[in-house]
Amino acid sequence: MDLLVVGSGFFGLTIAERAASAGRRVTVIDRRPHIGGNAYSEDDPDTGIEVHRYGAHLFHTSTPAVWEYVNRFTAFTPYVHRVYTTHRGVVYPLPISLGTINQFFQAAYTPDQARALVREQAGEFDPQRAANLEERAIGLIGRPLYEAFIRDYTAKQWQTDPKDLPAEVISRLPVRYSYDNRYFNDTWEGLPVDGYTAWLERMADHPRIEVRLETDFFDRTQPLHKQAVVGQVPVVYTGPLDRYFDEAEGELSWRTLDFARDVLETGDFQGTSVMNYADADVPYTRIHEFRHFHPERADRYPRDRTVIVREYSRFATREDEPYYPVAAPADRARVLAYRERASLEPDVHFGGRLGTYQYLDMHMAIGSALSMWQNRLA
Ligand code: FAD
Ligand code: UDP
Repeated sequence: MDLLVVGSGFFGLTIAERAASAGRRVTVIDRRPHIGGNAYSEDDPDTGIEVHRYGAHLFHTSTPAVWEYVNRFTAFTPYVHRVYTTHRGVVYPLPISLGTINQFFQAAYTPDQARALVREQAGEFDPQRAANLEERAIGLIGRPLYEAFIRDYTAKQWQTDPKDLPAEVISRLPVRYSYDNRYFNDTWEGLPVDGYTAWLERMADHPRIEVRLETDFFDRTQPLHKQAVVGQVPVVYTGPLDRYFDEAEGELSWRTLDFARDVLETGDFQGTSVMNYADADVPYTRIHEFRHFHPERADRYPRDRTVIVREYSRFATREDEPYYPVAAPADRARVLAYRERASLEPDVHFGGRLGTYQYLDMHMAIGSALSMWQNRLA
């Protein structure tokens, strides 16, 4: 073995695939019983509809090198992601756009009029100088729209004062003064034609890649555990940053999700793939209806049944899957201490969403793995 990769998500598999293609022998371990990390998907046993087990995953990128790379393993459908939100019993388009603004204010503003209105309502903060999520959001869309669509959803998603959340979290969502309601601004987007798992398996399908599942890096009873390999062989580690160091600098805070799945006796529950719930009195943040991600499979999917998943967010305990880095002020100091420790580890390279404690999308995880391979490992 020339390289050990801990974690078979997109970061780990990209490193493994690049290294194997360059002639290295790679072992990938993952503590879960399947590869693919959080992008893993499977056919729902009752309906045959593809369900993303760890929450809906939409691929999008504007980076040519990433788009070229991912197309080696899968083709993409022309799916364009659109999200709606329900606020006080009325459905609005997201992200905040002219459609949302006119519906909310019961008006017919032109783009210039809507801009002028929002500028007036947003005057208290300059979004460029915003120190946190609340200031950035109010600076971008003004207080009334913030209170309707962002404040309570964010409270459910993070249970953290929006003044303590990084401004970048809200910068994920564009604000548009047109009726364009694509959720992403990226050049390319789509879903893998034969599903995420087929894509992930093709990345791992190489004679020089060995995958060992249900193998925990910290389990001393398995031969490739931390104490046995660090310093002996190069390691790429994509598990949680704090866990690698036994939380020596304190625990980093993560959000986890609970998914409540229901099979319903209807061919269409909500008419769209994702419906957000903006209000505090609805305990979940959003409902996914997975059949709508693949309209091209309509003939294969049942006409009289559908599968929906409600998403509930809460703080992760040590037993839970960590999904979202909270990155509140206390975390930011700890992360710096962990990064310092990480830089001292002999030939251990930390990557991915968990390993760097960063809110990375798939294209970012793949892009940073390609860079790590080229700049540090090749
Ligand atoms: P992961 O996929 O988390 O993989 C890490 C792997 O390491 C896991 O398989 C884990 O089991 C393994 N591991 C951890 N600890 C150990 C250990 N001790 N020993 C062995 N193995 C270990 N991105 C998008 O682009 N679009 C989306 O729509 C999108 N939606 C998302 C929705 C949710 C709910 C979440 C959580 C993420 C979403 N993402 C989305 C982000 C996407 O999941 C990540 O960018 C991508 O999975 C990052 O891959 P990764 O390899 O860094 O991490
Ligand atoms: N957000 C919100 N209302 C919404 C959708 C998003 O307030 O209807 C905020 C919320 O703080 C969320 C962030 O915008 O965490 C990023 O949203 P995104 O949909 O990108 O989150 P993800 O899909 O990663 O959970």
